[in-house]
Amino acid sequence: MRLRAGRRGVSLREVGLVLLAVTAISGVVARRLAPSGTKAGAAVCEGNVARINMAIEKWFFDKGRWPAADLSDIGRDRAYFPNGIPRCPVTREPYRMDPQCHRVRRHSH
Ligand SMILES: [Zn+2]
Repeated sequence: MRLRAGRRGVSLREVGLVLLAVTAISGVVARRLAPSGTKAGAAVCEGNVARINMAIEKWFFDKGRWPAADLSDIGRDRAYFPNGIPRCPVTREPYRMDPQCHRVRRHSH
């Protein structure tokens, strides 16, 4: 019984570590794809949206509540965004979370 409870804790921690690793890797990929044009910028934007949505899910997993719709709280937390929350490379607009579905929607630019 005790072993089972321990295993469960480890697997939840592993899920968190994997999410963190994927978030870090996609951040490196996003920086390598420096926006040289609208198409490249749109690809970076898509990567940003995916990365932010993963961070939102991890935040909920860690804290049991969703971050603010303007992402001000999660954006300040260096554990989630060590370099601050990215902006859209095409429009330079900040990303916002849809409070209904708790996700950042993809941009149509
Ligand atoms: Zn965008």
